[in-house]
Amino acid sequence: MLDYKLEDKLPVHEYGYVRLMKVTGDDEWIEYCARMSYDQRGKIETRNLLRYLLRHKHTSPFEMGDMTFEVKMPLFVARQWVRHRTCSMNEVSARYTQLPEEMFVPKVFSVQATNNKQGRGEEVPEDLQHVLHDFMADQNSESYSAYVWMLDKGVAKETAREVLNLNIYTKFIWKMNIHNLMHFMNLRLDPHAQEEIRDYAELIENLVELHFPITHEAFVDYIRDSYTCSRMEVDLIRTFFSPPETGINALDDIGKKAMTLLRGTFSIKSKELGMSKREIDAFREKFL
Ligand SMILES: Cc1cc2nc3c(=O)[nH]c(=O)nc-3n(C[C@H](O)[C@H](O)[C@H](O)COP(=O)(O)OP(=O)(O)OC[C@H]3O[C@@H](n4cnc5c(N)ncnc54)[C@H](O)[C@@H]3O)c2cc1C
Repeated sequence: MLDYKLEDKLPVHEYGYVRLMKVTGDDEWIEYCARMSYDQRGKIETRNLLRYLLRHKHTSPFEMGDMTFEVKMPLFVARQWVRHRTCSMNEVSARYTQLPEEMFVPKVFSVQATNNKQGRGEEVPEDLQHVLHDFMADQNSESYSAYVWMLDKGVAKETAREVLNLNIYTKFIWKMNIHNLMHFMNLRLDPHAQEEIRDYAELIENLVELHFPITHEAFVDYIRDSYTCSRMEVDLIRTFFSPPETGINALDDIGKKAMTLLRGTFSIKSKELGMSKREIDAFREKFL
């Protein structure tokens, strides 16, 4: 578990950080809000209730908790970040303030991926790494010098900033409720998300876990590490458990043994995974 005090800065790359400023609520508060639906305190304890809610997409109680962060990141990360509209934010204004000379330079350069048009592939050879690093550092100081030169000539900050690169840093205050934060984390922790934004999302996740541990556990089980099955995938899984048409009685001896083994494995594994009776019943309803 993260050793963290409110307002500590958690560094990301050379100049960036995540800093948790305020938290509204906790797991018990979400539970309390959820109980409004039933107008009484039920017997079911916090963990079971929160897991039940998330499993059944009853998400409004999770909107009752929220977290406010101060985050600093390069513009190209911020552009991806602000696509998540369900938040409140206030960003530093480069019309009022001169941006400091802080630019992101990757530690390692990689080639364009061939199997994923948005991603990276193999690292470029070692000798080219240095060349690219120096090239980018030169580009950074050139664009920053041009910025300062224009400011010195009296050009307005809102115009002079136009010569700056996408890797200059910005910072903002960002508030999101826990329901939307789970959606944000799910998208930005995914290996398909760009590595640099993933680095931030991982820290955000650690902070969510610290303040909403039961909700976080349910997020991992039902959102982050879960998959949605297509109709064809559901049919495929059903076929493994119950061969179509023929049924278990029509199988030959080898088929029957395989089926018994499969069902035995299901029974042992589901217990090992800590699945509740309700979860096992839900699985049977979907696939058996
Ligand atoms: C790996 C990856 C690659 C991406 N690539 C691109 C790209 O190439 N180009 C690009 O433009 N974007 C890209 N995006 C951004 C992506 O399309 C989403 O805009 C972003 O992830 C925010 O998701 P969201 O809209 O669900 O979140 P939020 O804006 O937080 O919205 C949360 C939910 O609220 C609802 N909602 C919010 N606003 C509306 C609305 N106006 N209408 C209807 N429902 C709404 C939706 O249900 C939505 O899921 C990429 C995202 C990822 C994770």
